[in-house]
Amino acid sequence: MGAITAAEEGLSSVLILEAASKPLGKVRISGGGRCNVTHACWDINDLVTNYPRGSRPLLSPFSRFACGDAIAWFVDRGVDLIEEKDGRMFPVTNNSGTVISCLRSAAKKSGVIVQTGTTVNTIEHSGDKVFLINCRNRNQTFCANKILLATGSHPTGRSISTSLGHTLEQSVPSLFSFSIDNIFLKNCIGLSFDNVHLILIVNNKKFEDKGSILITHWGLSGPLVLRLTAFAARVLSENGYKAELIIDWLGMTSDELRNLLSHTRQNYSKYTLQSFKPFQNISKRFWINLLFDLEIDPLTYWADFSLKMEMKLIKALLKAKFDIKGRGPYGEEFVTAGGVNLDEIDMVTMQSRICTGLYFAGELLNIDGLTGGFNFQHCWTSGWLAGKAIAEKNNS
Ligand SMILES: Cc1cc2nc3c(=O)[nH]c(=O)nc-3n(C[C@H](O)[C@H](O)[C@H](O)COP(=O)(O)OP(=O)(O)OC[C@H]3O[C@@H](n4cnc5c(N)ncnc54)[C@H](O)[C@@H]3O)c2cc1C
Repeated sequence: MGAITAAEEGLSSVLILEAASKPLGKVRISGGGRCNVTHACWDINDLVTNYPRGSRPLLSPFSRFACGDAIAWFVDRGVDLIEEKDGRMFPVTNNSGTVISCLRSAAKKSGVIVQTGTTVNTIEHSGDKVFLINCRNRNQTFCANKILLATGSHPTGRSISTSLGHTLEQSVPSLFSFSIDNIFLKNCIGLSFDNVHLILIVNNKKFEDKGSILITHWGLSGPLVLRLTAFAARVLSENGYKAELIIDWLGMTSDELRNLLSHTRQNYSKYTLQSFKPFQNISKRFWINLLFDLEIDPLTYWADFSLKMEMKLIKALLKAKFDIKGRGPYGEEFVTAGGVNLDEIDMVTMQSRICTGLYFAGELLNIDGLTGGFNFQHCWTSGWLAGKAIAEKNNS
């Protein structure tokens, strides 16, 4: 995006040095091969809430190029996007190859040269404002007066940034699931829940939110779990991924639940607990397993449902506690939290405040988003801003 924007703005000599044999490898595997290009989010104040790191600093970049601009950019170049119910936007072809072809043909058309199989090893900044770029595998050296570093989470980009004077926030994984060893959860594998309330406690710090979760072979996953891991990424890492999770499966207050149970006791007294389940948002399998887990006989009549049983049930449904024993596998999307400190970047041009002529874009920066297209969005935005700024200063 940065290279294409600079070239389209009239910069005559734009070269991409790409380590891999083919560019855009992550775009290819993104969104399960469909590429979740961006999110249907039109208010930048809402948009920035989807970035656990980088939220406030992104207000200015998004005021110039946000989701609508990214959609228009792709539509102008022949890629129509479609919005899913949850706001995620994919190419209508449902194929990440469409996005890759678009970027490659836009690069070619605008005169960008792409040299693949070239790993940049070091970059030196000489006194006469020229950068010397040394490449490892081809033993080549290039000269440039402007550089845009967009190396994602690759360690070389980090070491190059440091060598040019930048500081980096330590990188830790984001957007992962929870590994929990619990027999009750194991008996409920495959069940999903909407509108669950989770409280995550890590080292006395509390993170909470409502949303959907899924019980998996290893523990818990789903959009709400990924969201909490994003916001708690750093503190979870510091605590060795050990934490406590409190689940409210029903999203109800204890008074509401008590009233519901008392109503059931009176009106369904002749039914057994097994034959009548008073909650719509939990499945029969979950309900029966829960009764067994609480050592409550499912053949008990609601008429005989004691206060002791009620107390146990209320605790298990509204304050179920689980020990998180580690990080589970990633969801469809995975990003690294951490990267080049944003205080050291002019967020209008994406130029370094430390090294003139050096620009940054994408995941190398200390910015990361939630799952849903927000990660690509900040990459399109920072690439576009950097490309514009590089071209403006170089047109002569
Ligand atoms: C499985 C998966 C699925 C994802 N799906 C989505 C999704 O659907 N939507 C979304 O918004 N986000 C998604 N993401 C996140 C998204 O892919 C990243 O946020 C995004 O690719 C970051 O872009 P970038 O250009 O900063 O870095 P990258 O895409 O990682 O690109 C960096 C490029 O630089 C090259 N490079 C690195 N170091 C050097 C060097 N020293 N010399 C030369 N070249 C170098 C690399 O080879 C690479 O091609 C997904 C991530 C993963 C892992």
